[in-house]
Amino acid sequence: MTFSETITDWYAACGRDLPWRRTRDPYAVWLSEIILQQTRVAQGWAYWERFMERFPTVEDLAAAPEDEVLRLWQGLGYYSRARNLHTAAKQIVAMGGFPSTLEGIRSLKGVGDYTAAAIGSIAFGLPAAVVDGNVYRVLARYFGIATPVGTSAAKKEFTELAQRLLPVDSPAAFNQGMMDFGATCCTPVNPACLTCPLQPSCRAFKEGRVDLLPVKQAPAKPVERHLTYVYVRFQGQTAIHRRGPGDIWQGLWEPWLTDEVPAGAKPVVQGFKHQLTHRTLLADFWLWEPAGRPGLPEGYVWIEEAELDAYAKPRLFELILGKL
Ligand code: SF4
Repeated sequence: MTFSETITDWYAACGRDLPWRRTRDPYAVWLSEIILQQTRVAQGWAYWERFMERFPTVEDLAAAPEDEVLRLWQGLGYYSRARNLHTAAKQIVAMGGFPSTLEGIRSLKGVGDYTAAAIGSIAFGLPAAVVDGNVYRVLARYFGIATPVGTSAAKKEFTELAQRLLPVDSPAAFNQGMMDFGATCCTPVNPACLTCPLQPSCRAFKEGRVDLLPVKQAPAKPVERHLTYVYVRFQGQTAIHRRGPGDIWQGLWEPWLTDEVPAGAKPVVQGFKHQLTHRTLLADFWLWEPAGRPGLPEGYVWIEEAELDAYAKPRLFELILGKL
């Protein structure tokens, strides 16, 4: 049996039964792919159901206010994905329907090569192989490839290999099989080699190199960034502002961000560590309860504290709010 047949057979027998796999509606498939871009299936599942319930069609999503989309997204992080999702929904409506070619799908905001191949193959049967961390790992081990992943050489090599292996008559089963096989069988640690159907011809297994593949490049050291927040409390109200473009958390709300802590403010938490993908945030959080209503910097608004829940917030703000 060939590599590809083994993967598609394995998928038919052991593939995960996920709600978005019971449909070929490109909108539902696209939504699942965007949600799962940086999120585990277990966590993304509930979000996908919530989005499908609130926005059953792409027209519903396109017509929604951005705030509502961000609020529904809250907790998933990487808010640029939610904003792109919303922009792309409007693009699709303007196109008159979901694009059915790879180039058309790839032209949607927030859709890269991987997501375009996943949507194209699953919803439209297009012969485009997906290449992500799971695929790199399975191919690197099975074929004994030591090219460091994360390099452009690896991208080219693994993409060409996956594309050669893709059976044109069943691209969806092969792609989803590769994703699931990498996620549940050929896992990063403790892969299930002893029960693996590919084991008889797996190079890494034969050569005792399973733990050494795939080869990874040393990650760049995350950059540190310090943030000082003052939570103002006056007559049951607090001051927040909405973050602008060109930085983290665009469009989300946060308390007063300042370099100068007012006299009389009390420390709530100092040096609170919060990890983002490319940087470590260290936040100082102060509570200030002034005797009179203070003036606010430009862009800040007073809101009732009881209404804070209605504002889409970064996870960091949620965590430190819990410490008040
Ligand atoms: S034998 Fe082990 S390393 Fe090789 S493909 Fe199977 S699970 Fe992966």
